[in-house]
Amino acid sequence: MDKIHCQGCGTPIQTVDQKKLGYTPKSSLEKENILCRRCFRLKHYNEIEDVSITDDDFLSMVSQIRNANGLVVHVIDIFDVSGSLIKGLPRITGDNPIILVGNKMDLLPKSTNKQKLTQWLRSQAKEAGIKVLDIFLISSAKGYGIEELTGQIEVHRKQKDVYIVGTTNVGKSTFINRLIKQSTGLNEVITTSYFPGTTLGFIEIPLDAHSSLIDTPGIVNKQQFAHYISDEDLKVITPKKEIKPRVYQLNSGQTLFIGGLARIDFIKGERQSFVCYFANELEVHRTKLENADNLYEKHVGELLSPPNEKTLEMLPELTESTFKVSADKTDIVFPGLGWISLSGEGATVCAHSPKGVAVSIRKSLI
Ligand code: GDP
Repeated sequence: MDKIHCQGCGTPIQTVDQKKLGYTPKSSLEKENILCRRCFRLKHYNEIEDVSITDDDFLSMVSQIRNANGLVVHVIDIFDVSGSLIKGLPRITGDNPIILVGNKMDLLPKSTNKQKLTQWLRSQAKEAGIKVLDIFLISSAKGYGIEELTGQIEVHRKQKDVYIVGTTNVGKSTFINRLIKQSTGLNEVITTSYFPGTTLGFIEIPLDAHSSLIDTPGIVNKQQFAHYISDEDLKVITPKKEIKPRVYQLNSGQTLFIGGLARIDFIKGERQSFVCYFANELEVHRTKLENADNLYEKHVGELLSPPNEKTLEMLPELTESTFKVSADKTDIVFPGLGWISLSGEGATVCAHSPKGVAVSIRKSLI
């Protein structure tokens, strides 16, 4: 018997393990358009279900591309480059050429220098072991840059299949929906949502008689905040609009709390600006370093929120990493949450983030 696939996400249907990918109750097998329970719930109740999928499962599914012949389009979230760039992607996709697409450009301040950003992305990709054919900056939500990208995909694919790959939550489904809308006028063929891991199987969309656009499962990156917080909080930390940078002039001995999810202590250095790039809804609190521990203990989940109660139950404790920042403009990056840009006077800072979400530094993006 041929394997039955879910009409929503393309994953093989199984009726044995409720916690695994593709589960559907036996009784549903008689229906015409079979959906896995996850897609069914999402479609009818607008609600995402937790299914345990190991990173290995994802990797082996996506690595089917290695044996295929086509163009790989790697979509990343420009707001979370370190969390969404797939290191060593060619190990998964083989010799197929790769185009890098930075999505969610609408979130960055309009003043962002696109040429500089593209160059920076190229160097980041190289560091991650990815040689890219071309780089595009787009906004799937707003439609920015889509036309140019689709034109170039058409050129580069040389009539072969196109594989869209990315980690969860980068906007792959939104992007593909837009492509579909552009070509057929149909709306919402694939579900998009705030919740990571929504697109679980391969979905094929015909491009012409011989080739298809293939949406692959989102690879889970455990480094992202998204995996440690409640759905309500994920909505708060996910920026929806252009980020308004918030500038704080700090003296050493001061601390900034990002809600109650992260924190930066200014340990040593001249007075300087700390420019915060986070979702506009996420509150930043300034306090004295000497009061910071106390404030956190007393007010996490209230004044310092998110986290809400649900998140507090699953959020790993905050751990510290200390950075000595040189005279270049530098970003302290909290993957999936945002970043703080230091103006380049030189400083020692201590960043606190939930264990498992590693803070990193980079040359300033903006
Ligand atoms: P997928 O997991 O990669 O398929 O991502 P989705 O398409 O489900 O999108 C994840 C989240 O990012 C959703 O909340 C989308 O609304 C949002 N999103 C997708 N594209 C964009 C974009 O271009 N700009 C912004 N601001 N948000 C986007």
